[in-house]
Amino acid sequence: MRIVASFRLHLVCANCLEKREQYLGITEGDDAPMDIDDLMESGVLAATPFQCKACEGIIGELVGITQMPCNAAA
Ligand SMILES: [Zn+2]
Repeated sequence: MRIVASFRLHLVCANCLEKREQYLGITEGDDAPMDIDDLMESGVLAATPFQCKACEGIIGELVGITQMPCNAAA
């Protein structure tokens, strides 16, 4: 599947309060979010699993999103 947009998620682990970054690649699709506003409104974030590398906590509080350059985007 082709990656059409990519984002870096900035999260804080709800358990150990460590800051985490997580890459999110959006694959081609009818409702693929192409920018941060689309991403926030989509169900993609809710469906993206988080696991803290330090404590294995699975609850991450989203504190920011950065859109990454995506060479694959047309
Ligand atoms: Zn943690």
